[in-house]
Amino acid sequence: MDTIKFKNNPKEQEFYNQLKDKVFKELNGRNFYGNADFWKKGIFWSIVSYTAYAFLFSDSINKLVFWFLFLIFQLAGLLIGFSLGHDASHNTAFKSKRANAILHFFSFLTIGIDPLLWGLRHIRSHHLYANVEGSDIDIDKNPFLRLSPVHPWKNKHKYQHIYAPFVYMLALIHSVFMGDWIYLFSKDYDWMRKGISKQELYIRFIIFKILYFSLVIVLPIAFSNFSWQFVIMAYLTTGGIAALLFIIMLVGTHFFIEAAYPESNEGEIEHTWAVHQLMTSCDWNADKKWARFISGGANCHAAHHLFPNVCHTYYKKINPIIEDTTQEFNIVYHNKTLSNMMISHLKHLKEMGKR
Ligand SMILES: [Zn+2]
Repeated sequence: MDTIKFKNNPKEQEFYNQLKDKVFKELNGRNFYGNADFWKKGIFWSIVSYTAYAFLFSDSINKLVFWFLFLIFQLAGLLIGFSLGHDASHNTAFKSKRANAILHFFSFLTIGIDPLLWGLRHIRSHHLYANVEGSDIDIDKNPFLRLSPVHPWKNKHKYQHIYAPFVYMLALIHSVFMGDWIYLFSKDYDWMRKGISKQELYIRFIIFKILYFSLVIVLPIAFSNFSWQFVIMAYLTTGGIAALLFIIMLVGTHFFIEAAYPESNEGEIEHTWAVHQLMTSCDWNADKKWARFISGGANCHAAHHLFPNVCHTYYKKINPIIEDTTQEFNIVYHNKTLSNMMISHLKHLKEMGKR
């Protein structure tokens, strides 16, 4: 990974100092972990997901009901990851790191992506250098889509705004069956795994994958009334729909038409860290409770990137401060509705598809 420094700019630094002061004053402190709102939401999605799962084994359901139950299990299972797992990866659910690691492990079981590897790339790459080519793994070269202006253009990209939804449906399955293995074994990601013993990585990985595949494939094949072919078909198709939900809530938060894709100039980026986060993030329906409820605060993306050490259930207090302070300092803050953000994402794909 390239090492990158952020430029020191007194006005931008002053903006960030004032923003932090106002936010920590409003919150009455600096450390904020999971509160009642946080646990209520996480428990709600866990009950929905595992109740649907339990009914998969009922004798009185037909194929169509089985498929819908599998879909609810996968969608709500994804939202367990959004509402509990993401915070746990940032150590903001509990004060104890160990408790966060345990929560992260179990809250990703319904998604299947290795939590330790995901957490490492999320914290060590994406959060530090959002949208910077070579430093943010989330925009690493993708064989099907050109997401950033620094990626090489190919003829097929002309149509990427049309075929992107089909590629996106493969996102979760690709991570479960390919991405995780590459992040675990490839030498290219040695920097990401630094400081974690190989033994720990491998043991946790193996236990996690055994539990995940038992949950989603082995147990339904062994104990439901349906053939293994039908169970696999249900797993793959509902997984594709869950992947679309995942992408819809996240992809536009960094890939939208007005986003910046800064290139480092001799290892330095044009702006301070805080302004960089604002230039590369987009909020959606940040003031809406329903949006925070389903996305685990991922809709308040600027607040999350600026205050990753605060649990997401406090973002509703942070958002108005970001809005005011960015206006006062004339600094960009992107906030759209979910549908406008998706339109902006498709426009971005179309733009990137031009030679
Ligand atoms: Zn995060």
